[in-house]
Amino acid sequence: MINYFSARPGISPKVHTISGTGRTLTEIYCLGDTNAIDQTEIEALPGVEKVVSVSRSYAVIGRHNDDTRKDGFTYNGVKFDQSSLHLFAGLCAVDTLENVEEMLRILQEHNQNCTRMGAYKPRSNPYSFQGHGAKCLPGVFELAGKYGIQVIAMEVTHDSHIAEIVKALEQSGLATGVMLEIGTRNTQNFELLKAAGRQKKLPVLIKRGFGVTLDESLNAAEYLAREGNHKIIFCLREMKTNLRDPHRNFVDFSHVPVVRRLTHLPVCIDPSHAIGGRDQDPLGILDVMHTTSQGLIAGANMALVDFHPHPDQALVDSPQALHVNELS
Ligand code: PEP
Ligand code: MN
Repeated sequence: MINYFSARPGISPKVHTISGTGRTLTEIYCLGDTNAIDQTEIEALPGVEKVVSVSRSYAVIGRHNDDTRKDGFTYNGVKFDQSSLHLFAGLCAVDTLENVEEMLRILQEHNQNCTRMGAYKPRSNPYSFQGHGAKCLPGVFELAGKYGIQVIAMEVTHDSHIAEIVKALEQSGLATGVMLEIGTRNTQNFELLKAAGRQKKLPVLIKRGFGVTLDESLNAAEYLAREGNHKIIFCLREMKTNLRDPHRNFVDFSHVPVVRRLTHLPVCIDPSHAIGGRDQDPLGILDVMHTTSQGLIAGANMALVDFHPHPDQALVDSPQALHVNELS
């Protein structure tokens, strides 16, 4: 294989290793003038199982001709793929450890093993609560372990946050696991994407940018994959429009099947940031419940939902927090 590439200076190989439960797969991406490649010649090389010709767009995350690569990944004992379904209900932002514990206890009563907890909050107003940051991590991780939570979705807005999370997880004795969230405001923060992609320990949930095209957002997910992290989930969280009322953002869950068709990534929906409140239909069913069902029926593999045991105490997004008696 090495001889093959050294004889072709116009093509540079990039190696990715994917470890599953059963075996480890090495993928070699050929970058450069690939028209010069003879597919049958590579197929004949020792150790080659399969050669897939990929298009230029979404080379790693995309679906391609004759592409039977398995989608999904397992992290901390939880499997994520285009057939799985997980609810990540939890606090938009960590406020007090008492509220964290109450939320986690209720999640455990509902047999939930995943949650969301924001420690680093990107806020429009610089005077708004910015999250407790690294100092809340030890308490949150210890409590998550106590209540059997295997994965916490947690937003990061700077690469230093990734290091802080990894350190606190290790100090907790890996009491739980963290899925890094790249929020909608950072979808095109390319240096953050590269940092989240370079580390391969933690999976990454990347949200669609609220004011850019789907193609631009999928390319952002490709940044993560290109750096070597293949544990990626793509999240639709609705678009900003000037239309606003009746909802905070404009729901784009009709794109769930589109993302499933274009890529092999599991798809998440975030109905909370779409609706932004507790309006309901004449039968008393909340708009956010309708929206969640629409996303799930369209094929979503995960839902990220804001809940709070005492919504009046929530320091971020209190109007959209669901009440814990609505969890079931
Ligand atoms: C969040 O999930 O708390 C959040 C800030 O989401 P978004 O980036 O979609 O606004
Ligand atoms: Mn929020």
